[in-house]
Amino acid sequence: MIISGKEVANSIKALLSEEVAGLKEKYGRNPKLAVILVGDDPASAKYVHNKELACERVGIENLTFRLPAQATVDQVLSRVEALNSDPSVDGILVQLPLPGHICESHVIAAISPDKDVDGLSPANVARLWTERAAGLPGLNSAAPAFPVPCTPAGCMRLLSEAGVDPDGKNAVVLGRSNIVGLPVAKLLLNAGATVTVCHSHTKNLAEITSKADILVAAIGKPHFVTADMVKSGAAVIDVGINVDPVTGVLCGDVDFDAVAAKAGAITPVPGGVGPMTIAMLLENTVGCFLRRGPARSTA
Ligand code: NDP
Repeated sequence: MIISGKEVANSIKALLSEEVAGLKEKYGRNPKLAVILVGDDPASAKYVHNKELACERVGIENLTFRLPAQATVDQVLSRVEALNSDPSVDGILVQLPLPGHICESHVIAAISPDKDVDGLSPANVARLWTERAAGLPGLNSAAPAFPVPCTPAGCMRLLSEAGVDPDGKNAVVLGRSNIVGLPVAKLLLNAGATVTVCHSHTKNLAEITSKADILVAAIGKPHFVTADMVKSGAAVIDVGINVDPVTGVLCGDVDFDAVAAKAGAITPVPGGVGPMTIAMLLENTVGCFLRRGPARSTA
């Protein structure tokens, strides 16, 4: 079974546009997302453009602040602070990666946790790691208690859509980044899986991955996960976004054709996790709007 993130994301967006229309009617304004883009990295510019299109599609107002690559950390921080105190802004997203001279964790920590649509600020990370039910499928609907990071939330939603319940399963996560690997591991733990997190120092990787009922690959290495590393019938979620060095075509971390023949369910790249990341961002923006108290935020 191929899990189409594109289709799932489209149905989430259709539901969100109805919800946003209802919010506008009830509260007199639409949720608003502000994005800060620093520098001129073409991949980041494309992601931001796709986010703008997605916001327009569901009726979320969006503003993008473009700062030059040589912007100082103080300039970025003062933009974040201005958006924190702007009552009409519900969500703030700083597009990563930032240029090397700007400390990402410093900037992320400056975002108000109430407006942190990426769920990466220290307060929201702490909640993810201390609240056991956080982000379980069904609970991460339009207004969970706090924003859960978008890509990991998207992975969980795809498992749920494919009818894969992590409870009691062996899950293996390849990658331990703060953005993907670690939060998806915690969400899988919350959902009752026994989780192993692998990284570049892990020994006997294939031995570990071939015991996984659920395998999440988030390492950024084209076609790294081969069929011999995958258990028959496993659910495989491919987060990787890479360019195939031979064909120049976009591909994931999983050797798709060979693994698809063995897996029970698998996400493609493109059209898998990527569209879900944006759908979860939209959901998180609506969640921030609802939690902030829409009536107050027009003040
Ligand atoms: P990072 O580079 O931050 O992390 C990569 C992780 O992979 C690290 O933990 C690293 O280990 C591990 N790793 C690298 N090589 C190996 C190896 N040979 N064996 C085992 N583990 C290894 O990447 P991100 O987490 O930010 O992103 C991962 C991938 O997901 C990228 O392709 C990225 O483009 C994609 N991505 C996709 C998104 C989407 O929406 N679809 C969103 C975000 C990311 P160590 O810690 O030891 O260095």
